[in-house]
Amino acid sequence: MHSSESPPEETGREPGTACDCSRAAGFEVILDSIDAIVYVADMHTYDLLFLNSYGRQYYGNPEGMKCWQVMQAGQSGPCDFCSNPYLLDGNGEPAGVYVWEICNTRTGRWYECRDRARHWADGRLVRIEIATDITERKRIEAELAEAKHQAEALAQIDELTGLNNRRAFFQLGLQAFRQAARAASPIAVIMFDLDHFKQINDVHGHLVGDKVLVAVADSVRAQVREADIAGRLGGEEFALILPETSLPEALTVAERLRGAIAATSLAHGAVVIRCTSSFGVAVCEDGSLDLEHMLSLADAELYKAKRNGRNRVEHTC
Ligand code: GH3
Ligand code: MG
Ligand code: MG
Repeated sequence: MHSSESPPEETGREPGTACDCSRAAGFEVILDSIDAIVYVADMHTYDLLFLNSYGRQYYGNPEGMKCWQVMQAGQSGPCDFCSNPYLLDGNGEPAGVYVWEICNTRTGRWYECRDRARHWADGRLVRIEIATDITERKRIEAELAEAKHQAEALAQIDELTGLNNRRAFFQLGLQAFRQAARAASPIAVIMFDLDHFKQINDVHGHLVGDKVLVAVADSVRAQVREADIAGRLGGEEFALILPETSLPEALTVAERLRGAIAATSLAHGAVVIRCTSSFGVAVCEDGSLDLEHMLSLADAELYKAKRNGRNRVEHTC
């Protein structure tokens, strides 16, 4: 991050030129009591001309050293991130304040640096930097970014089953359908709904119903490829989007999943709970139909499967 600010009005007097000794010593006391690194480096030779006591705590005595030797690790010459190029205007004269951030390579601490060029008392150009330690702020920012990332990931996931939730399913699905339309490639949608699931809840309780939903989601994960998009659309209704998938392939997936769910049993005390599911499959061979349309076709097939006796797969022609 960096920015430039225009310089405040000149006071007319170069620093140090008209100061007596006690005044210069006073200024040094002020600089040494600033809670930030303040240093002055020759912009041409990189000689470090001044480092306040706050900076000397970290970097020691800079006498006779270059800024890149004192303040950065592993440098055999000026740093490639040196701010010098940003401190002069087109005529080579001091420009405004340049603000930037850096993680110091010697201490690992983060600084916000405010740099500017000035003419030193003897006329040469120097870089004056005031570097404030922002390590703590950076740590908090990184924590917040990580928490935001986690919250965003959680907002995509169905809490109970770990599958994509409805929102994520539609987001990812739209991308998959756009891709299929661009490539005019086949894409399949499978919808399925557990059979008589209300009875499981009514007889064994909601928690057992939840366990059945989790077991179904495990079956889904075991049956789909990485490119497929699986989601829980709500309640005991699930859907899959299978890119690059023809009707025979989609029917194979649906049949396999139907069989896997029917074969799953959940022990609840002395009782074994089983559940079946009904499937509707829709395939668009050239990617020309949109997600909503395909979902409504698959949904119509799903209800056909329910009407035709459940625990079966129906499909568009
Ligand atoms: P059908 O074969 O016609 O689909 O019958 P069904 O009983 O499965 O259908 P219905 O829509 O009547 O019932 C769905 C049930 O799913 C009702 C609701 O209590 C239950 N359900 C919805 N969401 C959840 C959930 O998150 N956990 C549990 N345990 N049950 C849920
Ligand atoms: Mg149902
Ligand atoms: Mg339902």
